[in-house]
Amino acid sequence: MNSKKQTRREFIKTTSGALVTIGAAASCAQAVRKEGRVGDSSQPASKALKMPKRVLGRTRLSVSFLGFAVFHLRHPAIYRRAVDLGISYFHTVVDSNTRKLLAPDEYNLDAFAALRPFRDRIVVSHMTVDRSSKPAMLKDLDGVLQQSGFGHLDIWYICCPSPEQLDDFSEAVAAARKAGKVRYAALSTHRLAQDVPQVTAPDSSIDVVMMSYNFLSPPEDREWLAKLHAAGLGIVPMKPLAGRFYEKTADRPDALIRWLAADLGVHTIPVGMSTVGQVEQNVAALQQPLSDEDRKVLKRLTAYTSPRFCRMCGACDGRCPQGLAISDLVRVAMYAEGYGDLHLARDHFEAIPAAQRRISCQDCQACSVHCPNGVAIRDRIRRVQELLA
Ligand code: SF4
Ligand code: SF4
Repeated sequence: MNSKKQTRREFIKTTSGALVTIGAAASCAQAVRKEGRVGDSSQPASKALKMPKRVLGRTRLSVSFLGFAVFHLRHPAIYRRAVDLGISYFHTVVDSNTRKLLAPDEYNLDAFAALRPFRDRIVVSHMTVDRSSKPAMLKDLDGVLQQSGFGHLDIWYICCPSPEQLDDFSEAVAAARKAGKVRYAALSTHRLAQDVPQVTAPDSSIDVVMMSYNFLSPPEDREWLAKLHAAGLGIVPMKPLAGRFYEKTADRPDALIRWLAADLGVHTIPVGMSTVGQVEQNVAALQQPLSDEDRKVLKRLTAYTSPRFCRMCGACDGRCPQGLAISDLVRVAMYAEGYGDLHLARDHFEAIPAAQRRISCQDCQACSVHCPNGVAIRDRIRRVQELLA
């Protein structure tokens, strides 16, 4: 771990250029500073670049291997270039920054408006986060359809439901399908041991599964992925770039993308992209196979990222004697340092109960909680406390 810690003020100073905000102007200004004008293209022609396609499990939908994670509005030129380069899978979710700044019944309208001209050429998925009841799920679906003007969703995800909530979602999907609002149903999960038996059962309504999967995934996750694949489900990795810590080691995401592309069990990887340059760079990464040089990069990144990346496996749930929600706090640290997004980090930090935010890991001589995936729990939480408490 980095022994020279930055103060909050230093951190803000060094990352302010990388902060992601809801305003397109801020996003684009950052893009301009880092990579030239947002609409600039480093590639003279798209026909030189080929986008691999895969069939998304039993949906039989043909999707681009590189997908686009649409968290909030981007400059329309980015979407145009993405479609031009063959990206055909767009995954939308309303992130917490968006939710804070828009009225509850508004969604990422500018992103939807930018995508609408391409609707007949792209596969659109959306993730519903409110899993509290079947009417709440259907309300979110109706809201996104009304605001987006997409007509229907190709894939409708539910985020991390309990088994009972998944049953509610199945009923909601049946009603929505009958009404022509969705084509396929999907589950986003961190609890594979709980969910794989349910979604691979013969009567499951789920067609696609989003699971944490990247070069750091342990062997058991590869086994879960193989089971889902064998059952015919579409496989969409969550956090494919493992928290974006490659930027801290001055690496590019190419090796991470190629590592996933070498796995034929993976169908499409939704990646958030803020500039045309990033879109082109990620598509260009797919023009080469995984190389020995990539493996060296991944080895270096493993050493840096493993102590920092939480795959939300839940093994530490309830283990802190002080009652800290460890995975939530480690995720906050990832938003701050991996994504470089202090707004998002603060937003999630403030969602943690105030009593927990006051507990300090400084008071423990050593952490009594062990992460089986190598996360340096105490170090990560102390970092959050230094930056945000
Ligand atoms: S900190 Fe470790 S044990 Fe806890 S959820 Fe994350 S990966 Fe799992
Ligand atoms: S160091 Fe932090 S996470 Fe670990 S046991 Fe103490 S309070 Fe809990």
